[in-house]
Amino acid sequence: MSFLESFDISKGLSLYIHVPFCISKCSYCAFYSRSGCSDSLMDSYLERLLEELDQVNGIMSGHGFDTAFIGGGNPGCLGPRRLERIAQAVCSNGRPSEFSVEMNPESLDETFFPLFSDYFTRLSMGVQSLDENALDFLGRNADLLKTKSGLKLSQKLREQMGCNLSYDLITCLGSWHDEMKDVMELTENYPSDHLSVYSLTLEEGTPLYRRSPALPSEDEQYEILSRVWDYLEAQNFEHYEVSNFARSGKRCRHNCRYWAYGQYLGLGPGAASTAFSEDGSVHRYLFRPDVGSYVSSGTFTGYETEDLNRNESVEELVLMGLRYKGGLDIKRLETMAQKAIDMSIFEGLNGFLVIDNHLVPDNDGLMTADAAAEAILGKLY
Ligand code: SF4
Repeated sequence: MSFLESFDISKGLSLYIHVPFCISKCSYCAFYSRSGCSDSLMDSYLERLLEELDQVNGIMSGHGFDTAFIGGGNPGCLGPRRLERIAQAVCSNGRPSEFSVEMNPESLDETFFPLFSDYFTRLSMGVQSLDENALDFLGRNADLLKTKSGLKLSQKLREQMGCNLSYDLITCLGSWHDEMKDVMELTENYPSDHLSVYSLTLEEGTPLYRRSPALPSEDEQYEILSRVWDYLEAQNFEHYEVSNFARSGKRCRHNCRYWAYGQYLGLGPGAASTAFSEDGSVHRYLFRPDVGSYVSSGTFTGYETEDLNRNESVEELVLMGLRYKGGLDIKRLETMAQKAIDMSIFEGLNGFLVIDNHLVPDNDGLMTADAAAEAILGKLY
């Protein structure tokens, strides 16, 4: 079965597009992207992507995508003209019910605004910190002045276009950093619909990993995250996934599709796709993280295929389900594990409840989701 044939369009499809360009590389970042890219490389990337999108639209039988997300990288590097051509192609069978674009604060300007009336419904901005030293430590391209000016523009965009706004923040940077100050300043001065709050992790191969800075211990991280989570809930954000918070009705539907282990199609170098066979087996397609080979090879040639075995797919289902308030679908677990589930394997887990045949974490459960997943998987096999 070919890449595109493996998606069941009748079940609804979400689309992710990876834009592999950044102004400069942040010191902690392990995502695939290249900095300092030329207009001609971005144009070649655009042409290849549009060719692939054209083929994808051909299999959609007139259906639009359920959700779409243009991420990266920093899609703002493409500029409004290229971004509009991608958005037009994504919407050619209808505008997705949620269409997000990521953009860094220093890239947003008013020339992008019309795209939010015609195509995008949501902006996701990588703020990361409101502390000059922290931005420097993270190797961000935007200093505090540029970050705040991007934030102000995002507020104007939200007011004028009515789009949903999400900000990303990084916590647990070290004892020198006041985590609460960032979170409080952001929520008080820059209202948003959604927040993603991540702990800093040192990813192998990154400049920050080589510097090996002292980061908070696990207990200290627990302490910091508990305070941040409690504060955000007191501000009426729903904590609906380990790192994600939303105002009522403003969960990111695209990311919920990943966490509920639904099918999605990813385009662009470094993008992954997940498709399911009728028997529940899982196929993963990974576009090679190399924009040079992406533009020089034929459409849908620059990817690798991985068929997950039963244990691997069950592990993914359990891990994602327990980190998300949608919960672990127990019936689906039975289908994928090909065995009846003895409910006693869920006994003794603190912070989880069985609701409508789903094992759902409460706030304590979100804090211990990975350990709970390990315990369940250990009892399953
Ligand atoms: S802007 Fe985002 S994708 Fe680009 S280097 Fe920084 S963290 Fe990575």
